[in-house]
Amino acid sequence: MQLSLRTVGHFIGGEEIAARGATQPVWNPATGEQQAAVVLGGAAEADAAVRSAADAFPEWSSRSPLQRANVLFRFRELMHANLDRLAALVTAEHGKTRDDARAEVLRGLDVVDFACGIPQLLKGEFSAGVSRDIDAYALRQPLGVCVGITPFNFPAMVPMWMFPVALACGNTFVLKPSERDPSLGIEMAKLLRDAGLPKGVFNVVNGGAAVVNALIEHPDVAAVSFVGSTPIARHVFTSANEHGKRVQALGGAKNHLVVMPDAEMDATVEALVGAAYGSAGERCMAISVAVAVGDATADELVARIERRIATLRVDAGDVPDAEMGPLVTREHRERVASYIELGEREGARLVADGRTHAVAQREGFFLGPTLFDRVKPEMRIYREEIFGPVLCVVRVPSLDAALELIAGHEFGNGAAIFTRDGAHARYFERKVTAGMVGINVAIPVPMAFNSFGGWKASLFGDHHVHGPEGVRFYTRMKSVTARWSESPDRQGFSMPTSG
Ligand code: NAD
Repeated sequence: MQLSLRTVGHFIGGEEIAARGATQPVWNPATGEQQAAVVLGGAAEADAAVRSAADAFPEWSSRSPLQRANVLFRFRELMHANLDRLAALVTAEHGKTRDDARAEVLRGLDVVDFACGIPQLLKGEFSAGVSRDIDAYALRQPLGVCVGITPFNFPAMVPMWMFPVALACGNTFVLKPSERDPSLGIEMAKLLRDAGLPKGVFNVVNGGAAVVNALIEHPDVAAVSFVGSTPIARHVFTSANEHGKRVQALGGAKNHLVVMPDAEMDATVEALVGAAYGSAGERCMAISVAVAVGDATADELVARIERRIATLRVDAGDVPDAEMGPLVTREHRERVASYIELGEREGARLVADGRTHAVAQREGFFLGPTLFDRVKPEMRIYREEIFGPVLCVVRVPSLDAALELIAGHEFGNGAAIFTRDGAHARYFERKVTAGMVGINVAIPVPMAFNSFGGWKASLFGDHHVHGPEGVRFYTRMKSVTARWSESPDRQGFSMPTSG
């Protein structure tokens, strides 16, 4: 039976490599069956991919920004032409609903749109006549081989946070996708090739820790972008730094949504339920904590969420009206279920138990939506990232207490407030300790032409991803001072001044 399974290999030097060696199952989360096997690369595959990217760098980086943008324009068209097929693949390997999968691919393509504007973005700075016959200007030049290591929860979008900008800036790239849903990386590599990207400019190596460590230690790698859980982000950040790389490492999250007593409740509950349970809570910007200001607000909120989630349609992602799909693997489902058990032991009030939901009895990796009330800040279900369809409600007496709660948390990816009071919203925006803030918006993911990133243990490094920060991350600055003069050179021994 195993022999007939599709195998996901690597993509190196413009070709798909049906590699040999150890493999790992790729599951269908909706049925619980194995649908493919992914090859686990190691140091040899990492080295081959990096060398291929290093060989391609001189030619690619010497092309004009407009020539590079033209390849991305063609890639964009091919991605749109293949949108349904790619979304179906995301659903098949990740489990999220088809609409959500399409939206993920489209949000990634927004970054491609942004990167197509690279001639404008790389114009640099120019200061005419900074001294006699002297002009000064700054260039932004590519770094070389850049590596992207990505998580399972956005197998199309998160790689597209990285490589379109990196390639547009003139870098070459090695992508290491999640081994849990590895096919999108290869599919995008093939479409880049079809768009005219030269061999070796974009490579994909599949695998786990061995290949990641080989990539971040490789002497020919200039920069590493990582998105994943905080312990691995911390490790990648430290190790890449030690090996002299530029690095940005985005980690986990526990995003809070503060509900003020004056919030418009219908809109708040609808937004909150979508943000907590959409994609089965497997989003780094999912809301996992609702902070209700005042007991009356909390009582109303909990009752309304309970009613709403009783009607939530949980089903396989390719069922047309499904609102929430399964979790990504059996292990992850068991881990999330163990947090529900823990929450009960810790003394939180279990309002809705996803383990007893009808869908949780099926063969796939399903759990129903779960709701805890009266969660306390010292509980592990509050402190730790669960990354599943589990929403915790914490009750606080005031907006300041809500801000203090958020400030005390390890993570600081996103935070939102729902209110009708502009002064409260503005106060929250100024004080809150998170990188991305929503005001009456539950999932405040910045658009592609802005930059995405959290604070605290949600991001290690100085640069957010995509947008202007992405261009800064994937280029280094060169300052030029140029003298062109018709008078004889009279450069002396003292420091030159602006006179
Ligand atoms: P993960 O940390 O398990 O894996 C991420 C990547 O690291 C994968 O490519 C994986 O192969 C690799 N990896 C895993 N273990 C490793 C090890 N020991 N050494 C080296 N590399 C290793 O994350 P995941 O489960 O795939 O994704 C979910 C996590 O990603 C959540 O914590 C979520 O919050 C986070 N995430 C964060 C953002 C953000 O923007 N901050 C976005 C998406 C996901």
